[in-house]
Formats: sequence, C-alpha cells, structure tokens
Amino acid sequence: MHNFLPTAYFQGKFVPFAEANISIATHALHYGTGAFGGLRGIPDPHDANQILLFRLDRHCRRLSNSANFLQFDLPADKIEHVIVDFVQKNRPAKSFYIRPFVYTSDLGIAPRLHKIEKDFFVYGLELGDYLSPEGISCRISSWTRQEDRSFPLRGKISGAYIASALAKSEAVASGFDEALLMNSQGKVCEASGMNVFIVRDGKLITPGSDQDILEGITRDSIITLAKKFGIEVIERPIDKTELLIADEVFLSGTAAKVTPVKQIENYKLPGDRPITEKLREKLTAITQNQDSEFSEWVYKIPLS
Ligand code: PMP
Repeated sequence: MHNFLPTAYFQGKFVPFAEANISIATHALHYGTGAFGGLRGIPDPHDANQILLFRLDRHCRRLSNSANFLQFDLPADKIEHVIVDFVQKNRPAKSFYIRPFVYTSDLGIAPRLHKIEKDFFVYGLELGDYLSPEGISCRISSWTRQEDRSFPLRGKISGAYIASALAKSEAVASGFDEALLMNSQGKVCEASGMNVFIVRDGKLITPGSDQDILEGITRDSIITLAKKFGIEVIERPIDKTELLIADEVFLSGTAAKVTPVKQIENYKLPGDRPITEKLREKLTAITQNQDSEFSEWVYKIPLS
C-alpha cells in the first residue's frame, strides 16, 4: 500500500487526493501522450520547519521541455510555484516523492497533440528506498531502448515506459532485481528508470547524451561531484562486455539514488566499491543539507 500525501493539485486547484480522478475516456490513457517528472523531498533533519527538495529548478525545466513535446506550453516557473504550494499544503513528515504529470486530458479518440485539451496535476507519496542500497543484480534485457529519431527521449514521455516495464518484469521473472537495456546500436544505455555508470581503472564512464539515454538529473549531479573529486569522467558508448569486467557498476536516479550493482547476468562484480561509495556519501550529505558545497542544489521550502 502506498501512503499518498493528502492533497493533490488537479485541474488548476488543490483538492483531496481521493477526489483527483480522471475518466476512462481520457486521451492520454489510451495513447501514452503524457509526460511526468519525479522529485524527492525530505523534511530537513536539522530544521523541522523546512522541507528540502533536490534540484527543483532542473526538474521543472525538464518537465517544461517534456510538455513542449506534447505541444503544451507550461513554463518551468509555473510548475515550480505549484510544487512549492503543494509541499506547503501537505507538510510531509517523511521522505517523499512528488509526481508532476502533464497529459492530454480531453475525452475522445484519435492520437494527436493539436487542438486537444491538456492538464497538469501533481501528487505525492511517501517513498523510502526504491532499490536495495546494499546492491542489486541486473539482467541484460532482451528489449532495446527506443531511439531518439522515433521518440522524444529527452522528455519523460509516459508512453515510453512500456519498454521499462517490459524490461523490468522480464528481469524480475528471471530472478534479477533490475534490467539493463542496450540502445539500438547495441551499446549499454540505461536501466528501467536509472542511468548507469561503470568504473574502470579509477575512471568513471557513462553513456553520453547521444546514446539514447534519459538525461538524468542525478547523472548530472554525479558527473559534477566526480569531477570535483578529481575523478576522470568519460562520456562515451559502453560495450556490454565492459559491464561484466568493470571494477564497479552503479545506477543513478531520483528514486534509486546511487544503487550499487553486485551482479550482472552470471558475472559477480567486486564487493569493494570505493568510487561508488564516495559519490553516494557526498550526494546523500548534500541532499540532507549537511554539506555546504552544492547547497544551491537543495531547495528549501519553509513551512510557516
Ligand atoms: N532513465 C529513466 C528511463 C528514468 O525514468 C529516470 C528517472 N527519472 C532516470 C533515467 C534517472 O533520471 P533522474 O536522475 O533525473 O531521476
């Protein structure tokens, strides 16, 4: 059971979560013509009167870009205002996740984006660890990530998540925790909802933004932190076999944070993960407002 935050933003106003419902005829439900965001927030461990949101500006910008793909003009600052109000109305007491969503809200058929009503809603739920922080096993998926030429991959388009769902369920059905998808060039792309990093000879390597990845905000944060630590970061295509012989592999994402990978297919990875741990500790300290470096990444919302 999920613990949803009591108040949602729906059709331009704040309403009880249970009253924020849509029709079975909703256009986006049929055609996947929605796009979403996903942000984590926590009550500040040192100040009961404020809530911390990680990189709110970047999340709002990405959602505004996604909305553009749906021909919906939704400025990032409008999203930001709604999210701040949403948090102040809900006053969450535990670690939580915010799901803003834009979609074709019209009732009726025919896939299109023009001349159709759209809406923007926001709801939230309490969320602890999404994947085990101790480490997970991954299967290499038989499903391939979509290509940017057939899909706007820089938006978090809801319809795209059929590939993630197929890959995740296939991995779990075959006894693994998570899936790693290749791109159409056969290079390593990402997991079902996380970006992927490997460490080889002390260097941090991740598929570049030309590899059909979602441009993750956690990914961007990890790259910045690694460079700050003096770790060489290389964005380039990664071969499957490099995964299997890497010194360290981890996944990054808002929900998954930094999740170490223990095993890929039948290959066990080393248990010693100095670079993963260093980056994870730093990111955790920043998100908890315990590290003054990069404090501009942590958006503080006062509760009174
Ligand atoms: N890839 C996909 C497909 C995702 O859904 C996500 C989660 N938003 C990510 C990567 C990681 O992105 P972020 O760090 O911005 O959460």
